[in-house]
Amino acid sequence: MDATEKRAALAQIARAAGSCKDCELHQGRTHSVPGEGNPDAGIVFIGEGPGFYEDQQGRPFVGASGKFLDDLLRSIGLDRKTVFIANVVKCRPPNNRDPQADEIEACRKYLDGQLAAIAPKVVVTLGRHSMQRYFPGESIGRIHGQPRRKDDLIVVPMYHPAAALHQGSLRQVIEADFKRLPDFLSRALGGDLDGAGQRVPAHLRTRPESASTPATAEAAPAPPESTQAEPQQMRLL
Ligand code: URA
Repeated sequence: MDATEKRAALAQIARAAGSCKDCELHQGRTHSVPGEGNPDAGIVFIGEGPGFYEDQQGRPFVGASGKFLDDLLRSIGLDRKTVFIANVVKCRPPNNRDPQADEIEACRKYLDGQLAAIAPKVVVTLGRHSMQRYFPGESIGRIHGQPRRKDDLIVVPMYHPAAALHQGSLRQVIEADFKRLPDFLSRALGGDLDGAGQRVPAHLRTRPESASTPATAEAAPAPPESTQAEPQQMRLL
């Protein structure tokens, strides 16, 4: 898919999510929050579900945890416009409770469709519920910050920014995990590891959605063959 087709596919998913009644969450929805960002992103961040402000605005991560996510992205030289940000459920759970398994399942088709359209090389899961999409039964306390290969994807499970805001000790953990992200990205996507200490792949730094330059994710070197040999297996990089 080229960028135009990806944008069209994402718009279609957003429209479908906006009128979806496949689970009870639609009853409390002001706006659905399909996700936003660069359709050509090499990296997608997946949160849990919209909160109050996200529901009001129809945009992901615009409340307190969103500000923290923006800071975390900035700390590694990324801007939210260069990446794509989505959630496992597209409508706000009442009182910001955890999304339930049936709600996540009902919403799965939208996230599946978004990931199929964007075809990122790296997914960062934020919190337990998005982690479980890839690593069911795992504990975030055990695997946070560790990149793992899942089929053609590198998945990096992270704590949810809201957890870090509420639990002071986790703040340093998530900050440290984010600081290691550029290295993983460089290994997955190819990147500019020298030159003025810049450790973020060049195309991630300079590829906001509005940029007229062609997408370069496709041009990035493929991961080493040895890591592609066992498509069903998860393994550390
Ligand atoms: N928390 C999430 O998981 N997603 C959002 O969009 C906002 C807060």
